[in-house]
Amino acid sequence: MVDITDIRSIGKAPQHCGKRHAQSLFTSSLCVLFALVTILSSFAATTSAEAQGRKIRLVRDAETEELIRDYARPIFKAAGLKPRNVRIHLINDGAFNAFVVDSKRMFINTGTLITSKTPNEVIGVIAHETGHIAGGHLVRLRQAMREAQTLAAISMLLGAGAAAAGVASRQDGAVQVGAGIAGSAGALAQRTFLAYARTEEVAADRAAYRYLERTGQSTKGMLTTFSRFADQALFSSRHIDPYIQSHPLPRDRISQLERLAKKSRHYNKRDSQSLQMRHTMIRAKLAAFTQSPRRVSRTYKGNDLPSQYARAITTYRLGNHKKAIKLVDGLLRAQPNNAYFWELKGQFLMETGSPAKAIAPLNKAVSLKPKSSLLRVMLGQAMVSSGSKSTYKQAVTHLRRGLQHDPDLAIGYRFLAQAYNALGNRALAELATANGHFARGDIGGAKALAKRAKKKLRRGSPEWLQAEDILLYKKPKI
Ligand SMILES: [Zn+2]
Repeated sequence: MVDITDIRSIGKAPQHCGKRHAQSLFTSSLCVLFALVTILSSFAATTSAEAQGRKIRLVRDAETEELIRDYARPIFKAAGLKPRNVRIHLINDGAFNAFVVDSKRMFINTGTLITSKTPNEVIGVIAHETGHIAGGHLVRLRQAMREAQTLAAISMLLGAGAAAAGVASRQDGAVQVGAGIAGSAGALAQRTFLAYARTEEVAADRAAYRYLERTGQSTKGMLTTFSRFADQALFSSRHIDPYIQSHPLPRDRISQLERLAKKSRHYNKRDSQSLQMRHTMIRAKLAAFTQSPRRVSRTYKGNDLPSQYARAITTYRLGNHKKAIKLVDGLLRAQPNNAYFWELKGQFLMETGSPAKAIAPLNKAVSLKPKSSLLRVMLGQAMVSSGSKSTYKQAVTHLRRGLQHDPDLAIGYRFLAQAYNALGNRALAELATANGHFARGDIGGAKALAKRAKKKLRRGSPEWLQAEDILLYKKPKI
């Protein structure tokens, strides 16, 4: 978790890196251990109730993303979707939630992973969400959303009108009545457009069952999750996770799901030990990075590896950096080939002002996971931040490779621009900065810099074409 970046939308592969320029420097993947990315509320408004009116914080973490991809890949294939065409984003939110906004983007809260005890429970949620994608339920949802927005707008006007009338006639009570109408109309609109129809829930359950059968996985996790929600709805009026607001759970759905789930040949099949271990480690890591250290120390107090992992992170968060690094060294003695322990050590060193010392552990992490673009960008960042001229060229290589697979990672461009500047290549530094603006959604800033860069670049070169792509880019109308 080293960086925070603002972007306007997520997963928008820049349009200019399409088929036309196959050699484009952009393309996609990630860097920084835990970059918190903020989506502006305009985007949030189209996603879910919890997103309404406030920002969603996205989390980037190479280890978690790798695990989730491993969970999702077979399910997507079983549903006839190409895994590389569906991107899963992690939201830093302790509540249980998962949702899809279109056929290309699925969102999962960190709370979903922390709450789920087994990989199979998360896989069940992914299978259910995939069922909504495959069933085309989103089209209906969006249609309903448009209608609801119109309804909300009309209701708000009516409410405001009543309030204004109240003020005009100096009847204080009327002001309240007006405000009341506006409030309840908004709530009504939310309920209407956010929930899937019950028939769609049943269809998504059935689809999930098929995907799990096809991939030889248990249906138990899905049943466990939905049964927990049914109990939550029944017994708790205070704590309701957003997931059950959008996925209606009448009692008969649970009994149907139970009958279906238990028919599975794989019902009692368990996740492999290694997958369970990865899952448990991720839960410890996410909890340690997102929950209060006191709460984490109550949950993770043993000497097992997940507890040691959580302890290293909370110790670091509490400011005891030397001890935190010692604890990571302990983890590395137990698992010297764990790329993410090396990454954690690199992150701690980099964030505490020793980027030069972070290079070796991050290099090791990259050598163990050469495909992880997040790790590469982090290594590039350490190389640039160390200020050593000898590493700038290598930094460019790593940053470019990382950004090629993860073009939304604005922070990566900042370090790429710094490296190019240090190497005296002004044009490429400007182009990198233009790309960074683009990734953040600042199209105006991106165009201004692309214009400057283009003048210095060789006409027709891949970089020149990239600059031109930015200049020709038109924002899609919403
Ligand atoms: Zn659902």
